Amino acid sequence: MVKETKFYDLLGVQPTATEAELKKAYRKMALKYHPDKNPDDPNAAEKFKDIGRAYEALANPETRKVYDDHGEEGLSEGGRGRGHDAFDIFDMFFGGRARGQREGPKKGKDVVHQLEVSLEEMYNGSKRKLALQKNVICADCEGKGCTQEGAEKDCAACNGTGVFTQIRQMGPMIQQMRSACGQCNQTGKIIDPKFKCPTCNGKKRVREKKILEIHVEPGSRDGQKMHFYGEGDQEPNLEAGDVIIVLDEKPHKVFKRRHNDLVINLEISLTEALCGFKRPLKTLDDRTILLTSFPGDVIKDGEYKSVLNEGMPCHRDPTSKGRLIIKYTVKFPPHNFASTDSQKGIRKLLPKPDKQIIPDGAERKELIESDGSGLKEDEYEQQAHMGGQGVQCRQA
Ligand SMILES: [Zn+2]
Ligand SMILES: [Zn+2]
Repeated sequence: MVKETKFYDLLGVQPTATEAELKKAYRKMALKYHPDKNPDDPNAAEKFKDIGRAYEALANPETRKVYDDHGEEGLSEGGRGRGHDAFDIFDMFFGGRARGQREGPKKGKDVVHQLEVSLEEMYNGSKRKLALQKNVICADCEGKGCTQEGAEKDCAACNGTGVFTQIRQMGPMIQQMRSACGQCNQTGKIIDPKFKCPTCNGKKRVREKKILEIHVEPGSRDGQKMHFYGEGDQEPNLEAGDVIIVLDEKPHKVFKRRHNDLVINLEISLTEALCGFKRPLKTLDDRTILLTSFPGDVIKDGEYKSVLNEGMPCHRDPTSKGRLIIKYTVKFPPHNFASTDSQKGIRKLLPKPDKQIIPDGAERKELIESDGSGLKEDEYEQQAHMGGQGVQCRQA
């Protein structure tokens, strides 16, 4: 039982989520609410921050335990709540480097896109095209924003700094307030309207559509990143940023992927479990394989079997493949499926049950249906706490 579920709710997962599930959920939510993708929605920025904070706390097993036991309050005690900035968390997750830690020439922003890919594509490999909008330096003014030299001047409102600094005296305290300059849009420069480049309207860059060709290689994994160097936004005087494509594996109707293994659930009848079965199965590369039980094998409900070399291909080594793992569910026949006579016949065929010694005077009890609820320890306590129905007697 966790104390509160807020962080899990923000990521849209259950408190039982695995590390991989947390990662996938963060990837989805952070990309969905990134302010770059929602320029007109002020709530998105807030949500983006919350998602970052939630992920940062849950991604680390230590802080996750603190959160599970004591909630958000527990994290803020002892200064454990003061984490990274949401953008740094995002950059570290997708690009592997936080702002301020970057080396080399200053670069424009990286742009992250998620590409939904089917399991079939990850098995066989595929070529995909993705249309992106990006900022490129305006070719007409070569990124100057104006049609004449010298038409760009320092912004008078902010003295070319892009920010206002206000000094306020509050009693004995002197407070410095900084706010962004709206006159020059924080650039510190103003272009004389008469000489603004008509193509980019003085913005120095224009939006351009770009088609990226993406090769999904056989054996690619969910969350795999592909860097397209220099394909991100261009900014004057900066090296262009990168485009990062993140593969997002679509859930498959039949196969579940576990690393390089594929898992399927196979429902067989009791008859098949006892007497053998054959099942055709379409593979992800469109072959049909025939799953066949060993003659004489008895298959138990919940049992696993596997087929070697019918799992996912290994990335960059597609001739080696993982396993196909089959989890059996044995479907039992309904009540009264056999007459009393047939039951005798079945009894004869099946192994003899152990002999039961029944003492004189044993009380006969009928069994009724039960869903097994309240069997787990914490569930029992929770119900007792709420005075739930499952609990008939309470101990003082
Ligand atoms: Zn200004
Ligand atoms: Zn221009």
